[in-house]
Amino acid sequence: MDTFRIGHGYDSHRFGANRPLKLGGVEIPGAPGLRGHSDADALLHAIIDAVLGAAALGDIGSHFPDTDPAWRDADSALLLATVVREVRTAGWRVGNIDATVICERPKLRPHVAAMRERIAALLECPVEAVFVKGKTNEGMDAIGQGEGLAVHCVALLVQAG
Ligand code: MG
Repeated sequence: MDTFRIGHGYDSHRFGANRPLKLGGVEIPGAPGLRGHSDADALLHAIIDAVLGAAALGDIGSHFPDTDPAWRDADSALLLATVVREVRTAGWRVGNIDATVICERPKLRPHVAAMRERIAALLECPVEAVFVKGKTNEGMDAIGQGEGLAVHCVALLVQAG
């Protein structure tokens, strides 16, 4: 088996839900909520796809179909914890992840420390192995017009020894 595996995840959701914004398992007060079948935590969704992709264990849609009522308003932290257990069973631990959230608002910097702590706890890795940064889209395209947000994430898996 390989020693390392890399994976990439992407997700986007549209603003406009009548609920608080959740990103990285952290509620951001005063920000517009995201529409989606689950709690629409796009950051955790991108992490799930990066981790699953690295292990070649499918994707978020095959594990938690958005046609299944079981996942309506689901807490994405529980979905990520499930995926981490599965990846561990397959012989991997998360080495590190690096994520970029693209949105015009809210400003993410004040919330990054809390997101990193929460994500690290879910991934069962040190907080130093988790990074999250915010970027705007400089007003361009739908994300730049504030219609929603998008997330890119890469994950490194290390053979558990
Ligand atoms: Mg999603």
